[in-house]
Amino acid sequence: MRVMWKKVKYPRIDLREGEVLIIAPPGTDIDALLKQKRVWIEEKTRLIEKLKERAEEEIKRYGIRILDKYVEVRHSCTKTGVVDHRVYICRKRSGYLREQLRNMLRRDLQRKIERYAEVLGVHPHRVYIREQKTKWGSCSSSKNLSFNLLLIFLPADFREYVVAHEMVHLIYPSHGTGFKEKLNSLGIRIPGREETLYNWYYAGMCKEKLLL
Ligand SMILES: [Zn+2]
Repeated sequence: MRVMWKKVKYPRIDLREGEVLIIAPPGTDIDALLKQKRVWIEEKTRLIEKLKERAEEEIKRYGIRILDKYVEVRHSCTKTGVVDHRVYICRKRSGYLREQLRNMLRRDLQRKIERYAEVLGVHPHRVYIREQKTKWGSCSSSKNLSFNLLLIFLPADFREYVVAHEMVHLIYPSHGTGFKEKLNSLGIRIPGREETLYNWYYAGMCKEKLLL
């Protein structure tokens, strides 16, 4: 267990990294918090285990999903990158594959961005593909959008949601009523927490298998 003291309004417990991480404002009674949240922590830990197993099983059975197509993983240094329905990995040249994936994702997201730009009447200043640790996407005050490279491993409807979400942030920086109404008006499905968590582990495993 790790405690991170931070000036937040309420304490938060994060289990995503496989350990209990508590982010709490200084002065929080950690023992009391743990006691109060014990059942929740146990349930969530079990859920995470289940989701990780499901992700592993999916990868083992079908291969790795890249922009909604399952590809078979091959280790080779004569061929590299995504070719047809296979992905060739050469550990010494993972930079090449990274670059290829980044370009593939950029093309996919760009199409979605353009569509929402037309509907919403806003355009991002710049679009970055990054390898963020905790976020799928973000929108800066200077109207630059960043998207996580891991999105390439997720289903199209999830990418659709993340793009719509960040595009609406170009109009409403925070998650207030205006933001929610605008996002709803786009008629896209909002993924549930469990699905989001599953995607997180699935994408993490894909990345581990391909790029690390
Ligand atoms: Zn947001």
